[in-house]
Amino acid sequence: MRSEAYPILTAGAATVRVIWDAIREKRPIVPWQKIIWFPLHIPKHSLISWMTLLDRLPTKERLHHMGLLNDCKCVFCDDLIETRDHLFLHCSMAEYIWKSVFSLSGIQFFPCSWDSFWTRAINSWKEKSLLTSILKLALNTTIYFLWDERNKRLFQGRTKTAPELLQTIRNIVGLHLRNRNLNSNDNINITLARNWDMCAP
Ligand SMILES: [Zn+2]
Repeated sequence: MRSEAYPILTAGAATVRVIWDAIREKRPIVPWQKIIWFPLHIPKHSLISWMTLLDRLPTKERLHHMGLLNDCKCVFCDDLIETRDHLFLHCSMAEYIWKSVFSLSGIQFFPCSWDSFWTRAINSWKEKSLLTSILKLALNTTIYFLWDERNKRLFQGRTKTAPELLQTIRNIVGLHLRNRNLNSNDNINITLARNWDMCAP
């Protein structure tokens, strides 16, 4: 960003806010805003989701288009091309995690396109409920850990199985929501709290 930052810095704009306002891309509010940025969100997880939705992550397909990479195979299934939609939704690894996350939340996961997946989330996860909080947290945490696991496999040679990855996601979501005041007469909330291990031992 040197060419953009230099005139701002030399014009005497000293505060971080002024510099950020000058260089950031001004984008309109998008419908998925509330799925990613909500009161209970985990900032580093939401950041990766946000970059994923803007298709800014350096997936192998994008690096290939830039002429930086020849091997585009998905690191999880070693079969198909690592596009954003494949890595985060259609790959067998992603599908296992989504199915499990949805099942722990008492709903069924149907394979669908990237756009349908988000449209459904935007239209259905609106109310203030424990279920909605879990789904939004789990979605961002899943995207974060799929990307994290992909990078660990690529650059560190470390591998977690799909059930191990799911367990990590479940632990983080459960811990984040642990010991919240739940309506103990609500059977749905009790089941959700148990499935996501939200009750302190
Ligand atoms: Zn794959």
